[in-house]
Amino acid sequence: MRMPTSLEWVHEALEEGLGPGRIMVDAPLAPLTTFQIGGPARLLVEPQTTHELVSALRIVRAAGIPHFLLGLGANILVGDGGFDGVVIRNTVRDFELDATGRLRAAGGAIVWPDIIRHTTLAGWSGLEHFAGIPSTIGGALWQNLHFLSPAPARERTVFLDEIVVSARLLGTDGEVREVDRDWFRFGYDYSMLHETDDIVLDATFHLTRSSTGDMERIITENRAWRAERHPPLDSEPSAGSIFQKIDGIGAGRLIDQCGLKGTRIGDAEITHRHANIMINRGGASARDVRQLIALVQERVRRETGHLLVPEILFVGEFDEGENP
Ligand SMILES: Cc1cc2nc3c(=O)[nH]c(=O)nc-3n(C[C@H](O)[C@H](O)[C@H](O)COP(=O)(O)OP(=O)(O)OC[C@H]3O[C@@H](n4cnc5c(N)ncnc54)[C@H](O)[C@@H]3O)c2cc1C
Repeated sequence: MRMPTSLEWVHEALEEGLGPGRIMVDAPLAPLTTFQIGGPARLLVEPQTTHELVSALRIVRAAGIPHFLLGLGANILVGDGGFDGVVIRNTVRDFELDATGRLRAAGGAIVWPDIIRHTTLAGWSGLEHFAGIPSTIGGALWQNLHFLSPAPARERTVFLDEIVVSARLLGTDGEVREVDRDWFRFGYDYSMLHETDDIVLDATFHLTRSSTGDMERIITENRAWRAERHPPLDSEPSAGSIFQKIDGIGAGRLIDQCGLKGTRIGDAEITHRHANIMINRGGASARDVRQLIALVQERVRRETGHLLVPEILFVGEFDEGENP
């Protein structure tokens, strides 16, 4: 389909800023999400440095074109109609750890496991709890990444915000500024980034001394815990938990109570392993997932009186009248 003039302008400006051949047209987004679902982006660009990321964002914002910053796509459902604008996928890889345990990290998917390996081997603790969770740095701050405290107690939830010191943001005015941890107003599955269009360029974390052996034990036990309870991403794609937690009750428990495990619409299915996780059986559409979400909400409300609210973010174009 022919691009409107403004998108053509952005395409040219992005090629000029980042170099020829760096912009993809009508690029499939499904393979760029862990759910493996969704239509194409009109334009897709993958900045590899913070300088490129800032340039790309300044260009699309100056043109007033709809845009979306994609991390690893582990907490989103992209609509079957794709995204009618520019998707900027963060592939920056950059981090440094100093001798006092201060870690500054920027970037995308691959950088996160690299950082966890690096800090663990260097004897600095804080990130080992999150090993095995698919995320970029920005996505982790957006949602305040969390996981249970180490075995055997597993008595509390460990949040990423416990080690956040500050972050550098690109504001909608195109300016870069530093904010401290308080700016984020972190909560459960929440940060201030939900309310603003600020983009995290990098973040600084404060790590504490621990033994590599202890941290490796935590990583191994956490991975084993996840492998037992969560569907494997490579064969059963998902977006993690679909619905927000309900304090003291648990969304998954309510869904299980209603006997909904295994329920399937099209190729979207509530996995038998975990009632709050839906998997893509191979050809699931966003429509299948949204219909399954609506079915779960309806049954749980009717049978338990609780309203389940989706935790995942809906991105792009969905069929009319299907808003959960
Ligand atoms: C199998 C599986 C298991 C999971 N387990 C857990 C778990 O145990 N604990 C947990 O907390 N979560 C879990 N999740 C959810 C997911 O891993 C996290 O929410 C993760 O932080 C998402 O990061 P992302 O980079 O993929 O973000 P995306 O899904 O790509 O994006 C999510 C949001 O973050 C925004 N964003 C991304 N980068 C930036 C940036 N640089 N600046 C500003 N905004 C940005 C995006 O625009 C979007 O609004 C799981 C997901 C899966 C698939």
